[in-house]
Amino acid sequence: MKKNVGYFSISIDLELAWGVSHKVNNYFINHAINSERKICSNLIKIFESYDIPVSWAIVAALLDKKNENINVSNMKAWYAPDIFEEILNSKIKHHIASHSYSHLNFKTSNVKQVSEDFEKSIYFFKKYNTYVDTLVFPRNQINHLNILKKYNFNFYRSVDQSWYKSVSRVNIFAGKIANLIDKTFPIKTNTISPKINKFGLLEIPSSMLLISRGGIRYPVTNFSMFQKIKSGIDRAITNNETFHLWFHPSNFYSYTKDQFKLLEKILKYVNLKRSKKLLEVIKLNEFNF
Ligand SMILES: [Zn+2]
Repeated sequence: MKKNVGYFSISIDLELAWGVSHKVNNYFINHAINSERKICSNLIKIFESYDIPVSWAIVAALLDKKNENINVSNMKAWYAPDIFEEILNSKIKHHIASHSYSHLNFKTSNVKQVSEDFEKSIYFFKKYNTYVDTLVFPRNQINHLNILKKYNFNFYRSVDQSWYKSVSRVNIFAGKIANLIDKTFPIKTNTISPKINKFGLLEIPSSMLLISRGGIRYPVTNFSMFQKIKSGIDRAITNNETFHLWFHPSNFYSYTKDQFKLLEKILKYVNLKRSKKLLEVIKLNEFNF
């Protein structure tokens, strides 16, 4: 990593209905069928116009036309090689990471189940000549780190370092409120520095989730979100660290226009700092060991 610059990363978890496969609900299924493709196309277009490469963490079952959920509602919610191809065909060279094969629960799955899941994901990525070296754990449940090297992973994303995460570990509802307060008021946002773990993997924490809007989150405004992210980027520059933003396309299901406005405002700010050679955009597998 260079001295005297900051870094900016985006990682996106692409999962469609697999993200809620443990608890399917209509709101999510309808949007996965009717909104997700438009949102992804728009993201791809925006990244092209701002020249921003990102890391897409993909559920590999989306590439399997015989996957076990294909008949649960419309197949478009579970199968999306079209989105994957659009990412691969973009004129920006994005990074493809794995978000597992079936978004299984790593906390309750045993080694055999996780290994089978990895093998299936590798098989389907390979069909597109894609070899993944980075894992984003489903639901950010970090487990089975000792077998990652065996499946050629060198990098993994870990969780937000923000204070509200420690609140959620105690109480989920209190955690939600803390998250809301955290996003509403200009509380310090963490910048991150990847670190190598005892298995020789590079752990890349995230700084912040670009949260969904609507519902109890109404006090969160583009203004408060932008101020937080801007100060995170500034801090990354000052500290020679990284500001790592992550989200799902589903975080754009509600208030879609506002969310895109916010994203563009962030990318404009990134490019302003890039033009002054203060900031570089980095994909998750470009961090140095
Ligand atoms: Zn996920």
